[in-house]
Amino acid sequence: MSITQQDVFQAQHAIRAIARRTPLVPAEALSALTGAQVRLKLETLQETGAFKVRGAANRLLALTPEERARGVVAVSTGNHGRAVAHVCRRLGIQASICVSERVPPNKVRMLEQTGASLVIHGQSQDEAEERATALIAEHGLTMIHPFDDPLIIAGQGTIGLEILTNYPQVDTVLVPLSGGGLISGIAVALKAANPAIRMIGISMEEGAVMYYSLRANRPLQMPEADTLADSLNGGIGLENRYTYELVRRYVDEVILVPEEAIADAMAFTLREHHLVVEGAGAVGIAALMRGQVKPMGRHLVVVLSGGNVDLALALRIAQERA
Ligand SMILES: *Cc1c(COP(=O)(O)O)cnc(C)c1O
Repeated sequence: MSITQQDVFQAQHAIRAIARRTPLVPAEALSALTGAQVRLKLETLQETGAFKVRGAANRLLALTPEERARGVVAVSTGNHGRAVAHVCRRLGIQASICVSERVPPNKVRMLEQTGASLVIHGQSQDEAEERATALIAEHGLTMIHPFDDPLIIAGQGTIGLEILTNYPQVDTVLVPLSGGGLISGIAVALKAANPAIRMIGISMEEGAVMYYSLRANRPLQMPEADTLADSLNGGIGLENRYTYELVRRYVDEVILVPEEAIADAMAFTLREHHLVVEGAGAVGIAALMRGQVKPMGRHLVVVLSGGNVDLALALRIAQERA
């Protein structure tokens, strides 16, 4: 099954009352640095602080009345769990979010505030997932996958439609890359308009599972690493159904950035643009600052995918580079 631009337009219509249309702003310092016209897509200003609410809304709105009544489950301590919990509250759906015992207390509180029921189980993401599987078997809950689902991908793709509307000259888009739902959706939306638009995925050096899977010609499993781009952690699934093939087909290049460059980019974005951006959201700017993308007078968009970072950490990083 393939995903089309029409699916993305349908998602745009479906989620219009739940997800925001975010600003696309000129980035003068980055434009001067690169010689390109650089604009930033501010998903940091999205509901819940990251783009994931788009996909979650599109997926949850497609549930049947029976599925809605039984409730849903997601496995995530981060932006996906938060998005699912947020949209479920809006729609009156019972959400169970499964996390391991290693989840920090501030994240537990954040998820509890959304009204979701938190299921804390096991010492790892895998053990938390076993619990989710049990809940599905016992109570018929529907699993909401973070990226490998056509409706999630189409929801994230609405970012591409907004970019095209606000900046029709766009020819290069830099997108943070983990499971690949975000870049796949944006690519489907943009390449249908113009296949020559370059899609560049950016991951951190440690634990870039999609990058190494593409090189190996099959989905790989890799250990998670400590990284500032914590929202890019996690695998693509050995049984990947959609995003691996979509990224293969549509993504022109994948670039890896080191930790130090991610920190520099977070500090730069705070100083120059007065925006708090999390590590995962800063990888595109990191690649530009390091000269890893050769723009050459192009019309370039950098997707700042999220801003959910511990404020003390963000300030410390900025202070160390003041
Ligand atoms: C989930 C996430 C990503 C990666 O999206 P994928 O669809 O998994 O590639 C990037 N940035 C942020 C802030 C995220 O939460």
